[in-house]
Amino acid sequence: MDASKTIATPHGNHLVAGEWVAGSETFESDPASGPRFSFSVGTVELVDRACHAAEDAFAGYSHTSRAARADFLEAIADQIEARADAITAIGTQETGLPVARLQGERGRTTGQLRLFAQHIREGDYLDRRHDAALPDRQPLPRPDLRMIQRPIGPVAVFGASNFPLAFSVAGGDTAAALAAGCPVVVKGHSAHPGTGEIVAEAIKAAIEATGMPKGVFSLIQGGKRDVGTALVQHPLIKAVGFTGSLSGGRALFDLCAQRDEPIPFFGELGSVNPMFLLPQATAARAEELGVGWAASLTMGAGQFCTNPGIAVVQAGAAAVKFVQATREALLKASSQVMLTTGMAAAYREGAAHMADRAEPVISTDSKGREALPNLYKVDASRWLADPSLSEEVFGPLGLVVHVDSPDQMVDIAKALKGQLTATMHMDDSDTELARQLLAVLERKAGRVLVNGFPTGVEVADAMVHGGPYPASTNFGATSVGTLSIRRFLRPVCFQNIPQGVMPDDLA
Ligand code: NAP
Repeated sequence: MDASKTIATPHGNHLVAGEWVAGSETFESDPASGPRFSFSVGTVELVDRACHAAEDAFAGYSHTSRAARADFLEAIADQIEARADAITAIGTQETGLPVARLQGERGRTTGQLRLFAQHIREGDYLDRRHDAALPDRQPLPRPDLRMIQRPIGPVAVFGASNFPLAFSVAGGDTAAALAAGCPVVVKGHSAHPGTGEIVAEAIKAAIEATGMPKGVFSLIQGGKRDVGTALVQHPLIKAVGFTGSLSGGRALFDLCAQRDEPIPFFGELGSVNPMFLLPQATAARAEELGVGWAASLTMGAGQFCTNPGIAVVQAGAAAVKFVQATREALLKASSQVMLTTGMAAAYREGAAHMADRAEPVISTDSKGREALPNLYKVDASRWLADPSLSEEVFGPLGLVVHVDSPDQMVDIAKALKGQLTATMHMDDSDTELARQLLAVLERKAGRVLVNGFPTGVEVADAMVHGGPYPASTNFGATSVGTLSIRRFLRPVCFQNIPQGVMPDDLA
């Protein structure tokens, strides 16, 4: 597909409760290639309108049947597919991501919407519980108690820059909230406003086709920080879904906690996704592990939250082979375009920081919005003494940490902050050490995996994409998979409620 041929000029407006709304001020998109377009800057006044519309919609939408909401989610998926070429055309230009990646991500996005449709039709997520009345119980009778999960209220979603479809306007957070019965106000990411606009058009069309209340979805384009701030502080917003930087996420999390009525902030933030190469596995397949790591590290220019940035390996001949194989594979990788100019600059700063503290194995000089891989190595004692070496550098940068013993490998695991993932590469004879490590890693990460690479997050019932802080701001939640719906629900106990009054899901 020639993406440049099909591109149409975006109108650049916000979508507020079913209407396209222009603003007086505009900002220009900053695409990796192709023309720049103008988009209306979001305002605090528009945030307020969208939140009020969401609250108005909540009364009806939260009581729609699960079947009706499932139809709505499927209609959004259909409408996205109907705009497939237009989305890919502008998406590739805005983000610099290749056509195949955008197409794959679109499939993931529509698949996610359909998975949630199926999930709510089945209804297990309601977690229905019933303690029947015991009128004759002594000394006191027991009332009839029924519990289900009910939607929390209007939800704010911050689209992620690195997944312009699957974690953005109609991404996982939006799908989970709409499935739960919560209206959504999205703060669009200014890295892909044109892509966001077309996806919002798809949601608008689905709202009209299925007769959902118009305030159930609004998109406020970015452009200014006060939009995000106003959104998380708005009294009608009851929860926030966010994917992005640790600093931005933490600032918004703190604002949520400081509100008169604090609300949950489900932030998915930074992670270095450590890999532990256990001795027998390293001895058996050092080259294979190095080649595999290089491929995972450079996938999507390293702009994945699950990018495995650190490899922990016992010093020795096998480690030398592993580093050599990683180096050779990384040297073959070509330069890739990063999602934004700011990210490319942050990547260069991260590499410079690393170069001052660790020994370079590959040290590259990337220009403009391009990124080439970098590889460093450091001894465990040095890594343990310098917490900045455990911070995420967003991009294709790897750090090898050399330990002198299996015990020191466990010490490294114990020193880790919260992670989205932790990986062990092991053979049968590594089982004893793997058991020790697993006991530590399960406390550190949302997902622990063996003999694989963490990039590529399956959207499934058993998936956990979260973890202790700073991987996420809420260790009990996941932002991928059907369990992510729980973020936007709260349990309500219905005591002695007559059948005619009971919510439909309990009646
Ligand atoms: P970001 O800077 O955290 O921005 C994410 C969203 O939050 C944007 O819509 C941004 O608005 C808003 N925002 C951030 N700080 C805010 C504040 N203090 N007040 C109000 N709104 C705020 O993340 P990004 O632009 O996606 O990427 C920047 C860095 O984040 C990357 O270099 C990378 O290190 C990290 N990142 C991590 C992940 C991950 O999965 N862990 C994913 C993506 C990015 P504006 O656009 O208007 O500023």
